[in-house]
Amino acid sequence: MSMDYTDFTGPRWVEIDTDAIAHNVRRVKNALQAGTRLMAVVKADAYGCGAPEVARAALAAGADMLGVTTLEEGLELRAGGVTAPVLMFAPLLSQEAGQAVRHRLTPSVSHPGVLPALAAAARERGEVVDIHLKVETGMGRTGLAPEDIVPVALSLRGYPELRLEGVYTHFATAVYADSFVRTQFDRLQAALEDLKEAGIAVPVRHACNSAATFGFPEMQLDMVRVGTLLYGQYPGGGNKGWGLDLKDPWRVKARILHLREAPAGTSVGYGRDHILKKSTRVAVIPLGYADGLTVSPLVRPKNTVDLFKILVKTVAAFWGYGRAEVTVAGRVTPVIGRVGMQLSMVDVSHVPGVKLGDEVEAGLRRLNTNPRLPRVYLRSGQPYLVRTIQGEMSLAEEGVDH
Ligand SMILES: *Cc1c(COP(=O)(O)O)cnc(C)c1O
Repeated sequence: MSMDYTDFTGPRWVEIDTDAIAHNVRRVKNALQAGTRLMAVVKADAYGCGAPEVARAALAAGADMLGVTTLEEGLELRAGGVTAPVLMFAPLLSQEAGQAVRHRLTPSVSHPGVLPALAAAARERGEVVDIHLKVETGMGRTGLAPEDIVPVALSLRGYPELRLEGVYTHFATAVYADSFVRTQFDRLQAALEDLKEAGIAVPVRHACNSAATFGFPEMQLDMVRVGTLLYGQYPGGGNKGWGLDLKDPWRVKARILHLREAPAGTSVGYGRDHILKKSTRVAVIPLGYADGLTVSPLVRPKNTVDLFKILVKTVAAFWGYGRAEVTVAGRVTPVIGRVGMQLSMVDVSHVPGVKLGDEVEAGLRRLNTNPRLPRVYLRSGQPYLVRTIQGEMSLAEEGVDH
């Protein structure tokens, strides 16, 4: 019996093209300086794409290491069968040390208080645990003060179970390419210089996120930590002229659940905000603000240009411009009326032959997209895996027709 894979997903899902991720990994890796390694950052469920599957694709395409924020995210990769090295950016609590060591997840040390617990866990297992020291150079978040780097590194001599693998920092303004990036980099370099003078070897020095990797290529050091670019996006938006030719792996799809011809004067949706001016073919789709439709983060304007842009958008919204849009049969169609929690209305009057069950594509922001939307993974254009919050299902084994 033939089945469509959307039998497993219901009428809304996200397609993730793992070939596009692999392409982006290769493009980034090939553009790095000789000898610079690539950490694929798969935090926040791989920016909404699904961490275990993205990690597998990135590693197969040449990523050297993975990066996540929390222990929980590291454990999810291990549970998903990913065995590659994983650096956790957030400071670990001492009570998390045992799990981190047991699952060979690499901690970032931002405070020496966690070292005894890490060493004890390593000793118990008879293992040597790699750690990275995080240096606070201007992000104002986590990390050791630069003057504490040498004392903490020297204290590691009292813990033969711990090996200093890396030292790194994180930039606050790389996306603005301002001079503070240089200030932070210089502070890191000074700390590294101090370590060298103290006779301490640092195998892996790293600083760059996506924006810095190509905005300041001279700062790539031994490794770069790249997220945004691997997902086909450019930090701060726009193609930066970096010649990377990235591909977008992300498509949100939904099926039309209801379709009707509504006469002029009909009001559509909550608050009766939208009154049809003429007879309109209205489609209902199973996406709303609970799923991330039109939800965008409120950005505090950074300068007067930003402020002006936000004002223009707000005024445009007042006149009905800039509303959410979806694409039906290749045509961009506006969402009409207020976006509902889970159901929204679309004007499909100008889409010839549109019918119930047709696919629409919506531009949802990855990190605002509801994790309950099933993720369908594609390879060579074919779906091979569906991940829902209930679990994963391989489509190849189910003999699903495409
Ligand atoms: C998120 C993150 C990155 C990757 O940032 P992108 O701009 O998405 O490339 C690198 N390093 C740290 C510490 C991060 O938290």
